[in-house]
Amino acid sequence: MTGKILDKLKKYFGYDSFRAGQEDLINNILEGRDVLGVLPTGGGKSICYQLPALIKNGTAIVISPLISLMKDQVDALREDGIRACFINSSQDYETYVNTLKEVRNGEIKLLYVSPERLENEFFRDFLKDINISFVAVDEAHCISQWGHDFRPSYKLIPELYEILGDDLQILAFTATATKEVREDIIRNLKLKDPFVKITGFDRPNLKFEIKKPKEKLKFLRDYLKDHENESGIIYASTRKRVDDIDRNLRALGIKSTKYHAGLTELDRKKAQEDFIFDKKDIIVATNAFGMGIDKSNVRFVIHYNMPKDMESYYQEAGRAGRDGENSDCILLYSAQDIIINKHLINQTDNMAYRRIQLEKLQTIINYVNTSKCLRSYILEYFGQDAINDCGFCSNCLETSEKIDKTVDAQKILSCIYRLDQRYGINTVVDCLRGSKNKNSREKNLENISTFGIMAKTSQKEIKDMVAALLAYGYIKVNGLDYPILALTEKSKDILFSKDKFYIRKREEEKSTSKKHKSMDLANADQEDLFERLRSLRLELSKQRKIPPFIIFSDQSLK
Ligand code: ADP
Ligand code: MG
Repeated sequence: MTGKILDKLKKYFGYDSFRAGQEDLINNILEGRDVLGVLPTGGGKSICYQLPALIKNGTAIVISPLISLMKDQVDALREDGIRACFINSSQDYETYVNTLKEVRNGEIKLLYVSPERLENEFFRDFLKDINISFVAVDEAHCISQWGHDFRPSYKLIPELYEILGDDLQILAFTATATKEVREDIIRNLKLKDPFVKITGFDRPNLKFEIKKPKEKLKFLRDYLKDHENESGIIYASTRKRVDDIDRNLRALGIKSTKYHAGLTELDRKKAQEDFIFDKKDIIVATNAFGMGIDKSNVRFVIHYNMPKDMESYYQEAGRAGRDGENSDCILLYSAQDIIINKHLINQTDNMAYRRIQLEKLQTIINYVNTSKCLRSYILEYFGQDAINDCGFCSNCLETSEKIDKTVDAQKILSCIYRLDQRYGINTVVDCLRGSKNKNSREKNLENISTFGIMAKTSQKEIKDMVAALLAYGYIKVNGLDYPILALTEKSKDILFSKDKFYIRKREEEKSTSKKHKSMDLANADQEDLFERLRSLRLELSKQRKIPPFIIFSDQSLK
């Protein structure tokens, strides 16, 4: 089989070898299986359905969301001598009828249509009379509300089973790889035991780092001193912050420019060009910058604030190192970032939307809290088989000891369970530590069987463990106004000792405990930070903007 399809690849498309994922997908398609192919943009999804369409009998229907894309693809295929055509609303009636005639005569291997076309009764009838090899759904994430561009008309696609029979073969392709979108695609398109291939997300030349500097601006200055004349992008969350950073950098004599939606189109264009043509080394920007920008020599992407979810983060960070040279992707993180993000999310009254955004935000909170290899964490997140630890991300480089904390983790999970999964982190900690404070008295924690079972463990340590359990999905957070800790499917694996739970002591933690002789002092520092957060919350509440913020880990407060 392989030899034969390789010949066809060469013959029709002129390529000598397959790219990652293509061959597996094509083989499964030729065996008649439904597939879901998740390959990054530019990864070569089209060939995965174009090549089987040429080999199989009949006409393949390709559902594609954009008229302009459709025309480009069909033109390119025709240049390669492949019998493809499209129908869309921009055509005149005569062209439309002629195209249908060609299809009916079996002269066409690929017919591109928009999803809206499926509303058309005449077209649905027409489909009954022709021999269809399969239906390929391009940009399949458009069927999911979790995706970034939901298209209601994609929901018409499963109606094709009624017209063409239940054993119709459907292929789905997308570059969006989150679990929710993947599951939505499979469910909504009613794929039957699909072969799922996710590939191409690994970027081995990128060095991922998470930093929690006391002063972000100082960190930037020091970093840029060591990276003079290198090209880099600095992403910040607001226009004002972009202005501030850019001004600061220019005051230091750094060749910096800025980009955000508050600038005139002319200024934006100039900033973009100055950066692309290396007139400026640095561009400070909001997430408005970057779509369709292809600059190969970007040596670093620094996120001054935590982005709103993992997708955005990886897309933005991935603009570094397109030339394959080693490049840095640094995320500067502070607890404030969580607060601001939550605050923005809470501006909307649409509860369903809010819930999704909060869950998406959680994906990046988990990332900044993990002690795992960051690169394998990212790959796992996107569903690709994980690599071994990369050895050079900030988590791998941290000289750290691995400590078995399975028993402690079991205590924490049991406590959440005993508390009926109704309370937030502070109450769980009070209960575990057997605190004799007001909260414990008010909630009668003394009557809970897990009261005081971790009396000797510091508050900070328990909170760090909760953060790690959250990051690995052994705990989740429920509740909109007030974050409540709850168990997950995976909790069982820890509770029944199927999974072991390790934490890594970070270098910074170790040095703090060395600096402060007693635990109390370390805790006092924490208290101070909590206090600062409390006053911030107070301040916001005065402005009637109370963001319900979650503090997952004391680590996150640094
Ligand atoms: P996607 O839809 O995944 O974003 P495309 O299907 O448009 O990507 O392919 C991107 C580019 O890669 C196209 O120019 C395509 O011709 C090229 N390409 C695809 N497969 C191969 C291959 N096996 N070898 C070389 N080039 C390929
Ligand atoms: Mg494509």
